[in-house]
Amino acid sequence: MNFSITTLGTASAKPIVGQHQSAHVVNMHGRLFLIDCGEGAQFQLSKYGISKSRLDNILISHLHGDHLFGIFGLLSTMAMEGRVSPVYIYAPKDFSSLLKFFLAHFGEGVKFEINHIPLKSKGPEEIINLHNCHVWAFPMNHMIDCYGFKIIYHKMPRHEGQPEVYKSIAYCSDTAPFESEAEWVRGVDLLYHDSTYADDNEALAGKVHHSTARQAAQVAAEAGAGKLILGHFSSRYKDFGVLLAEAREVFPESYLAQEGKTFEVI
Ligand SMILES: [Zn+2]
Ligand SMILES: [Zn+2]
Repeated sequence: MNFSITTLGTASAKPIVGQHQSAHVVNMHGRLFLIDCGEGAQFQLSKYGISKSRLDNILISHLHGDHLFGIFGLLSTMAMEGRVSPVYIYAPKDFSSLLKFFLAHFGEGVKFEINHIPLKSKGPEEIINLHNCHVWAFPMNHMIDCYGFKIIYHKMPRHEGQPEVYKSIAYCSDTAPFESEAEWVRGVDLLYHDSTYADDNEALAGKVHHSTARQAAQVAAEAGAGKLILGHFSSRYKDFGVLLAEAREVFPESYLAQEGKTFEVI
């Protein structure tokens, strides 16, 4: 059994050389979920040896370019590689018009189904139920319609009874902290959280609906998470050590996301 998250991009909105924008792969026993698809995600997938052909489920948190601009390149490459199996894209409802535009102008070679499942819930909602693997989406507190995700591995009972939550990974980006957040990710083994800023930019973080590393740590502590992964770093920080230090003052089990680095929960 393997249950892990690999980060492909740690940057926030502004493109910078040597760092990529949000994209992550959750691997649950060989079943892959791509979470967000920033520019260049397909190159990062190749670099870290993750096969595009195994990506059936893509979760898009919101329609800001740093989480989305890589999706159409990725879909085009899948078509060029002769993909026939369907792709399921869980994304906010307005993604449908972007997909329509892509297919109208660049969809000639696309021989596989692209299914858009719109995210629109006001609270936690189960969006994927595959035997022992369940995925929930829940709204974030961002500038536009945005969703977090919780991916749960259930242990199936040997005989009768309900499956129990065994391990879980949650993804909260982009967001400012909000009242129900810790409740919705309570007890997760690993929490990936928006940590765009350090304390020096706390006011700015609130204004643009992002979090500081310390705020991410407060959510992790309140939720009783096992481990916190900080990511989505502002380009103004050249050394992310300050973010890590501020988070660890609140929640010692905090770690920096690094491109290509995998955190395992099993
Ligand atoms: Zn972002
Ligand atoms: Zn955003």
